[in-house]
Formats: sequence, structure tokens, C-alpha cells
Amino acid sequence: MKEIGHWINGKLVAGTSGRFADIMNPATGEVQARVALATVAELNAAIADAAKAQVKWAATNPQRRARVMMAFGALINQNMDKLAELVSREHGKTLPDARGDVQRGLEVIEVCMGAPAFLKGEMTDNAGPGIDIYAMRQALGVVAGITPFNFPAMIPLWKMGPALACGNAMILKPSERVPSTSLFLAELLKEAGLPDGVLQVVNGDKEIVDGILDSETIQGVGFVGSTPIAQYIYGRAASNGKRAQCFGGAKNHMIIMPDADLDKAADALVGAGFGAAGERCMAISVAVPVGEKTADALVGKLVTRIEKLKVGPYTAGDDVDFGPVITAQARDRINGLIGSGEAQGADLVVDGRGIKIQGYENGFFVGPTLFDKVTPDMDIYKQEIFGPVLSTVRKDSYEDALKLVMDNDYGNGTAIFTADGDTARDFASRVNVGMVGINFPIPVPLSYYSFGGWKKSAFGDLNQYGPDAFRFYTKTKTVTARWFSGIKEGASLNFKQLD
Ligand code: NAD
Repeated sequence: MKEIGHWINGKLVAGTSGRFADIMNPATGEVQARVALATVAELNAAIADAAKAQVKWAATNPQRRARVMMAFGALINQNMDKLAELVSREHGKTLPDARGDVQRGLEVIEVCMGAPAFLKGEMTDNAGPGIDIYAMRQALGVVAGITPFNFPAMIPLWKMGPALACGNAMILKPSERVPSTSLFLAELLKEAGLPDGVLQVVNGDKEIVDGILDSETIQGVGFVGSTPIAQYIYGRAASNGKRAQCFGGAKNHMIIMPDADLDKAADALVGAGFGAAGERCMAISVAVPVGEKTADALVGKLVTRIEKLKVGPYTAGDDVDFGPVITAQARDRINGLIGSGEAQGADLVVDGRGIKIQGYENGFFVGPTLFDKVTPDMDIYKQEIFGPVLSTVRKDSYEDALKLVMDNDYGNGTAIFTADGDTARDFASRVNVGMVGINFPIPVPLSYYSFGGWKKSAFGDLNQYGPDAFRFYTKTKTVTARWFSGIKEGASLNFKQLD
């Protein structure tokens, strides 16, 4: 059995704990490798070495650090196919989707190539006679990134790019289900010129997450994953005095107005609801058609499209629209929720349970599933399903549809499909959700903006990547300097106002 270790001080090392987690092949249901789960002692040794390496890295001028990002970006491009294959092999998503996973991470690295511009401070000259005030942005020190299974390339890149470009060292703890992409990215960063020890990839589970949260050396924690864990990590990191930003789960709604182009809306819903088997934090899981006529027509168009979707292993290439879900437990939980939706009275229009793929009978597949006439009290509405299940909640008016979105606990992404600019502007202005799409189903901001949800989709301060990331990964130091020129007054004991 293949064993995967850690990336420490510029090389791959085996784990010493004797504890491992299985890495599944989600399409076959077989164990394809096992990953070492580090002990807190292994973690602390990696942190200590990172702290030493960070001092020199922070003192490296920002343009030289940016050049490492440039070389890294070029290497990611050269290795795009290999990276996509690594993503698909452990996650199960299709290769074109895996390329998108790498690409959206690469775009953040491209912005990090301009890090020196983001790291410029502020200055007021002549704040008083001979007095200048300036504010510097300095790296935090050693920071940690803790990432989920669903974007094995993109989210580690969102974490490591800005943190390293700012002059921090990073302990990256990828999801134990998909560790290989992060290890390969670390190898590419070394080839790009990153000094050893500045990025340490330590594989593990809760044991080392808690070690990270309690470490006195770690200054900041960037987490992405489910809401209960995000809330836990935020609380423990913050109470230990760390800067923390923790992004959680989602339940993203798309309102479809009666004046929307329903074919375009149905296409968008199928892509955003079922792409990557619904395992995206920005997936649309709730369609909210306004008016019975809109709802009936939309459901008809969705069914036609869903019937054509092909599910299978990524190795089947273009013959497949989406792959399996990540584990047998995930499949069983999703199937259980579909059962609960049926039992609680929703209309199960397309049932994806029990799908069998020839030659892959033990894979973790769930077929595309569509519910109509879902109500907010049902479990399929209340819970993040994180699978290929789309629910329709019918509403009679725009105001009722908006209220549904506003009342939901989550606030990651949302969308509206309409031909009316006034409605669209009103929606964008009033909705309490962090990322809004207008005739756009998955409004993930481009890398020179920042990504983040509201409500229970994010805990802590500032968003991921873009300008916010450079604020998160640096602290401000403000210097008030006076250079005397011919002032020989001696000491003043009063707290003087500046002239
Ligand atoms: P998860 O919360 O199970 O795991 C995320 C990370 O936390 C992993 O590295 C895991 O090892 C660690 N972890 C798990 N349980 C832990 C515990 N009890 N204590 C400490 N650490 C623990 O999430 P997942 O299943 O890997 O990813 C899917 C979730 O991530 C979904 O809820 C999805 O919406 C969310 N997500 C959010 C965003 C966003 O930006 N808001 C992006 C992608 C995914």
C-alpha cells in the first residue's frame, strides 16, 4: 500500500506516529493509499523549523518573494495536467473540473506576483514640525492553513500564496482525504525558489489541528471547511490570541423571476447544482422560482436536462458530467437526506439513489436528484447536503423569495435570474449574503477581489485572497518619528498637541 508522509524542510518525509488515514478511490470504493497522521511532537518540530526559516524569508525583499510566486505560477501552468490528475484521482471530480480547481488557485498566485504593491504602507510627512508618521505592513510570523477536501488545489493555493508573499511561513494541513496535491504544490514551490522550511505540509487530523490552535508560535489561522468545525476553530484560535478567519458551509439560493430567460436559468441551475457532484461551497442547492407558472416551467426544463446528465469515473473523460462523492459515509448521508425529504412531504421529481455504474458498482455514486415543493421546515432545506441534490422552494413574490434567502442561517453565495435591472439592483443591495450573482449562478469573485460569506458561512475578520488577504496576513506597525533640526528646547513634560 502506498504511504504518504509530510513535506518538511524542503523534502518528503515519512510519518512516525504509526497512525494513518485511508485515501479512497471514490469511483471504485477501494483504498488507494494511506496518509500518515502526524503527532503534536512532529507538528511542533515543523513549526520550530518554520519559525527559524521565516525570519530570513520576511527579510527578503518583497520583489524577490514575488519572483518566487512568478516562477511558481509558471510551474503550475507547466504541470497543469499532472495537478489535475492528482486532484481527480483522490477527489473523483472530472478532469476539466479539476483543471478549473487548479486554475482558480493559480489566479490567486498571479495576484501574489504583485504583492509588493499590496504591501506598501502609509505615510504622512510633516505631521508636525520635523515629524513623520508611517505605517508598515509586517508579516505575522508562522501561520497555519487548514483546508477541506473539495478543492484539493484551489484552497491550499488561496492559503499559501498570500501568506508566503507577505513574508510568513506556513504550516499547511490539507484534508486527510486529498493530501497529494498539496505535497506536489510544495515541491513546485521549492523548485520556484522558496527556501526550505517556509512551507511545511503536515498531514493529520483533529489531533494536530488542536496542536496548531494551541501553539504559541502560530500567529494566524486560515481555515476552510464545514460550519461546526469553522466555529470551533475560530473560538479556540481567537481565545488563544490568534488572528483567525474561518470559512464554513453554505446553502446557496437562486431566485428565478418570471421575466428570466428560463432556459438560461435551467442551464445555470444544472451546472451550479450538480457540477462536482454538488460538493462545492458555492453550489446552488435551492432554486426559488417566483410564481407557479415560473415554477412549473422551470421544473419541466430542469427534468429534461437532468435526464441527460452522465455520472461516472473521471477516467471516462468527456462521457462524464460529474463523478462520485468523496466517501461511502457521504453517499449514505446524502441518500438518507433524500429519504427524509420524501418522508417529510417534498415532491421527489428525480431520485438519484441506487445509481449503479457498470464496472464501478462499489463506487460512491449518487445520481442527480431534484425535489420540488420543498418547505423551510424540512431537513433537506435546513441542512447543507453537499451532494447532487437540488431543491425547489416555490414563492409567490420577489419579497417572499428575498425573505427566504435573508432568513437562512448561511450567507455564502446567492443569485438572481431576471431581465429587470431594478429588481437585480435591489437584490444586490438588500440581500445579507457575501457573494451575489446577477444572471450568474456561481459568483466566485475573481482573484483581485476577495472571497467570503456572511452569517454562519464565515467566522472572523476579512475575506480570503485579493486585497483582504494582504491585510489578514500582515500586521500594521505605526512609527512616529521626529528629526530635530535646530530645536534645542530640552524635555517637555506635557502631553503636547502637534502644532
Ligand atoms: P471538514 O470541516 O470536515 O474538514 C475541514 C478541515 O478540518 C480538514 O482539514 C479536516 O481534517 C479538519 N477537521 C475535520 N474535523 C475536525 C475536528 N473535529 N477538529 C479539528 N479539525 C477538523 O470539511 P470537509 O468535509 O473537508 O469540506 C466540506 C465543507 O467545507 C463543506 O461544508 C463546504 O461548504 C465547506 N467549504 C467552504 C468553503 C468556503 O470558502 N466557505 C469552501 C470550500 C468548502
